[in-house]
Amino acid sequence: MQFPSNKYLIRHLITTAPRHSYHSATYYERPGAETMDQKGYISCDFVVDIDADHIPTNCRQNHDYAICKACGAFFQGEKPLKCSKCDGTKFDKISWICDECLEVSKKQVFNLIENFLLSDFSIPIEDINLYFSGHRGYHVHLKTKAFLDLDQDARREISDYVTGEGFSFKIWDYKMIQNNMMGFSIDDPGWAGKIAKELYNILVLGEPRIKEVFENPIYGKKLSTSLINIIISNRQYLIKQISDKRKIWQVAGIGEKTWIRIFEILRDRIKADIDVVVSIDLHRLIRLEGTLHGKTGFKVMKIKYDNLKDFDPLKDALSFPDDQDNTLDIEISAPISPKIRIGDTNYGPYNLGEKLKLPLNAALFLLCKEVAQIKPPS
Ligand SMILES: [Zn+2]
Ligand SMILES: [Zn+2]
Repeated sequence: MQFPSNKYLIRHLITTAPRHSYHSATYYERPGAETMDQKGYISCDFVVDIDADHIPTNCRQNHDYAICKACGAFFQGEKPLKCSKCDGTKFDKISWICDECLEVSKKQVFNLIENFLLSDFSIPIEDINLYFSGHRGYHVHLKTKAFLDLDQDARREISDYVTGEGFSFKIWDYKMIQNNMMGFSIDDPGWAGKIAKELYNILVLGEPRIKEVFENPIYGKKLSTSLINIIISNRQYLIKQISDKRKIWQVAGIGEKTWIRIFEILRDRIKADIDVVVSIDLHRLIRLEGTLHGKTGFKVMKIKYDNLKDFDPLKDALSFPDDQDNTLDIEISAPISPKIRIGDTNYGPYNLGEKLKLPLNAALFLLCKEVAQIKPPS
């Protein structure tokens, strides 16, 4: 679909009111042509999709659930592979959002921009276009010329670099030399220097920080308490080695395997957990700025990077003014409607059949999430 100007596009949106609106991230010679071959590919924005959906946050266990389509059995958290009651494999899934998962996806944007785009790739901040996706995450569009012309393989390389995929820590001279563990220097370029800096930043914040990081990694196994205690008791030594830019990190009780696990935990704190499939796709459709996301009713909106820290999706991306008197009558149509904060108010959890009069933004959210239906007052 091609429009001669914004005016035609807006008229189309008003008359058809689509639930979801996307545009192509690709530039074509003839975007309105029937087939891909006829369109004539020119180039494509480098698009990054960050979505809490594929980040293993703990909150999912609290607010997501699945219902077996065959027998109606209820499963809290991730949907199981198979229903434990009837062996059914088809489920209706309710995936929710909360401050925790929205914060995790925001952290990935900071990681992407600070740790990679501005530093390693030297991309000017004005070339980084940042959008709230309207749901659980953010989109970043890079319009830098050097990125527009990249083929799929090059996009894959960049994606693997920012996600820390597929490399061995040993490529940066990490090794045992006569029982001495060679770590990294904060002056090392790329990932090696980032890992040294991250370890240093955690160590200087002391015992509570060390425990928090290594006891609760987002991804994978935690370190055992005894290993964490060894790090804590060698804290001053490691701080001194790193700040003196000495690469020998020799700690009795921490062998090569443990160091690698420590590096993995550090890597996972530095990386940007992006959806690689989106970034390598040269014909991607991406949500249209200014439209509403059909699963929330929230605005897909451009955000200035300087404002990201204070950006509150559950307040700043609402479609209607926060007017408590402008309400809609709805009835809960799902087994449970988990708690959601809209603006400064918490709504729910609600149970099946509950009749509610909610402010428009909250009612719209529950309708879009398909846990409620409009119910005119009887
Ligand atoms: Zn079942
Ligand atoms: Zn959450």
